[in-house]
Amino acid sequence: MTQQLLQCVEGTHDYFGAVGRRFAENLATAAKVFALYDYERIVTPIFEPTELFARGIGATTDIVEKEMFTFQPGGEQLTLRPEGTAGVIRAYLQHNLHKDGLLHKLWYVGPMFRRERPQKGRQRQFYQVGCEAVGSSDPMLDAEIIALGLHYFSLLGITGVTTRLNSIGCPACRPRYRSALREAAAPLLPSLCENCQKRYDRNPLRLLDCKRDAAKTAALPDAAAFLCAECRDHFAAAQEFLGGLGVDFQLDRTLVRGLDYYTKTVFEFTHPALGAQDALGGGGRYDGLVGELGAVEMPAVGFAIGVERLMIAQEALKTCNCEPPLPVFGVALGENGKRAICGLLARLRHAGVPAAMDFGARSMKAQMRAANRRGALLALIVGDSELEKGVVVIKDLRGENGEQIEVPLAEFEQTVREKIRVKS
Ligand code: AMP
Repeated sequence: MTQQLLQCVEGTHDYFGAVGRRFAENLATAAKVFALYDYERIVTPIFEPTELFARGIGATTDIVEKEMFTFQPGGEQLTLRPEGTAGVIRAYLQHNLHKDGLLHKLWYVGPMFRRERPQKGRQRQFYQVGCEAVGSSDPMLDAEIIALGLHYFSLLGITGVTTRLNSIGCPACRPRYRSALREAAAPLLPSLCENCQKRYDRNPLRLLDCKRDAAKTAALPDAAAFLCAECRDHFAAAQEFLGGLGVDFQLDRTLVRGLDYYTKTVFEFTHPALGAQDALGGGGRYDGLVGELGAVEMPAVGFAIGVERLMIAQEALKTCNCEPPLPVFGVALGENGKRAICGLLARLRHAGVPAAMDFGARSMKAQMRAANRRGALLALIVGDSELEKGVVVIKDLRGENGEQIEVPLAEFEQTVREKIRVKS
């Protein structure tokens, strides 16, 4: 009886080949760009106490209400992290990072889990690259973090990103805005969608980002008119600093973000190639979250970018995703040749030159085919007759009739280097 082949769970994916390469490159580029802005990597657990997310993200958010993967091994309520910020702030507090009074700039990458309906750009397990800068309320930091996100996109070859910007105020001015929104939305309520009906009481700001009711909610008041003096000044300064950094942005009154913890500046990076789920990433200032989770108040700002969304944009833009050529492929003739090749490749690798061989005991023709398939630049060929003479054959695989030379064993490494121009 044949067994049915098992598949990965709907909304989860395997990354390998060209996609895996792009995935790895995007993560490596993240490490480079965060280093440029002096962010340090933080790694936190993939699961945390459910309460962390309920308190940190907000009980009335879509994530906490219906999207968390929660389980209860032995009675403890645990949740696979749906986002990265709550865990980073938990770690920041747990390890007393606030005690030195300094600004802490932390970045992370890892899988996040949300029980959403899978569709293009929306998965149940997806990766986020994100950062949190904790310990400063300076609007210049808001501008720097937005510039960092845009720098990352440009290093990945993603052009055509729109930066949308808004301010949603703070606990001092938001209640007044919430009331004004409810008052203005009350007459519309019977005609609004089911989601908006729920949001009306619990989180009226989210009436603004409903795509279905956009035409109806267009006349609702803007947050800008309700900002307190501090939030107004902060927003004006953030915009000025963005201008100073040469960042183009669009003010967008409908941008309120789905997570409760945001205050003041919020932003989103969108790309037309993504379709309905058009956000590459987003973030903002969250001056209340540290106080919500711990006993100290500490202003903070951060963002998260979806790695799969980056890959959709890169695919659409046809950014280069070339497999790097392999400098050297070892071709062995006979058992002695194979042992010799194994040692020669080890020497090359320790000298920083990537190299591979075919293993087994296949014919020279089959091994050469493997070398070509792998895009090797040079074949290093060794059999009994080469060993007797103390030489190796180096065949150049670039071009039609690649040159083939015999080199004394003692000189093979230097010749390989010269041919592939790897600096020692
Ligand atoms: P959020 O944490 O909701 O602000 O999301 C930040 C970014 O993560 C979004 O802009 C997306 O790029 C990405 N993202 C969020 N949810 C998903 C998902 N279900 N599948 C794929 N990417 C996602």
